[in-house]
Amino acid sequence: MKISLIVPCYNEEASLCAFYSELTKVSSEMGEYEFEYIFIDDGSKDKTLSIIKDFANSDKRVSYISFSKNFGKEAAMYAGFCNSCGDYVAVMDADMQDPPSLLPKMVEILNSGEYDSVATRRVTRHGESKIRSFFANWFYRVFNHTTDVKIVSGARDFRLMKREMVDAIISMCEKNRFSKGIYGWIGFKTYWLPFDNVERVAGKSKWNVKKLFRYSFDGIFSFSNRPLKIPFYLAILCACASIAPLAYMIYHAITHCFLMSSTSITSSLILFAVLLVGAFCLFSIGILGEYIAKIYGEVKGRPHYIVAQTNKKDVVKK
Ligand code: UDP
Ligand code: MG
Repeated sequence: MKISLIVPCYNEEASLCAFYSELTKVSSEMGEYEFEYIFIDDGSKDKTLSIIKDFANSDKRVSYISFSKNFGKEAAMYAGFCNSCGDYVAVMDADMQDPPSLLPKMVEILNSGEYDSVATRRVTRHGESKIRSFFANWFYRVFNHTTDVKIVSGARDFRLMKREMVDAIISMCEKNRFSKGIYGWIGFKTYWLPFDNVERVAGKSKWNVKKLFRYSFDGIFSFSNRPLKIPFYLAILCACASIAPLAYMIYHAITHCFLMSSTSITSSLILFAVLLVGAFCLFSIGILGEYIAKIYGEVKGRPHYIVAQTNKKDVVKK
């Protein structure tokens, strides 16, 4: 029985050694399993790659794939899935926020045969900024409301999966990847394992507010067509709202014996209506633009990632 552990790394020189020593400690306690550690260097600019190479020189279980530039965590995870061969596969962050100590329990649950994957979810958010927790909670609500795929609040990408599930993930070769949505979309029976949030062992998070917003919107647009219906609802709203100034003008005309003096109220109303309709139109064009950009990204058919260096013999390039 082989377990593949995929570790996406971007500028993780500060946390890699602590992570690797914890990983090897946990694996040695699980002596009955064979392990492969696949480190994906996502175009790091620090010593990440040379540290991974040092691991690989002294440990046959370590393989690495180094990208030509930063392609993002989603591309790194996809490269890991495509190049894994374990019966069980897990993705783990390199900063210890996905505790390796949970692995034995996760394997035990999968071995019971009842589940296809064991996913982890944080039940606390100690150490995370209030603003990030606030937006994360709202994101889960909006995502679950607008898409048919459901994400559990606090869900992490860290999950141990059976080979069948990994093959299903690989078969979803879209460029706009949003793993939490993909896991939900492909189905399979999942056991949710709760744990308390662990703070990063060293270094800094690679996500800022702008990146998180972009990622959240990409997730919603990738898994829902519902935003495309918003222009339709806005059109109905405009049609209904247009009745008010019309009624006012009719009333004004009747009470003033059809003398349509252009009062300031009438002109303000017209200006308001024009601006509102204009805003709705631009908003609708913006939504269409998002989808067109996504379609454009897909049809260009560019690779998910470009491999610059690897110690794998037959590296799968997608
Ligand atoms: N990561 C990556 N590429 C990126 C950003 C992040 O491979 O462009 C890796 C990073 O090295 C870490 C994991 O993804 O192993 C999670 O990143 P981070 O800890 O910054 O995210 P957070 O935990 O703050 O959500
Ligand atoms: Mg982290």
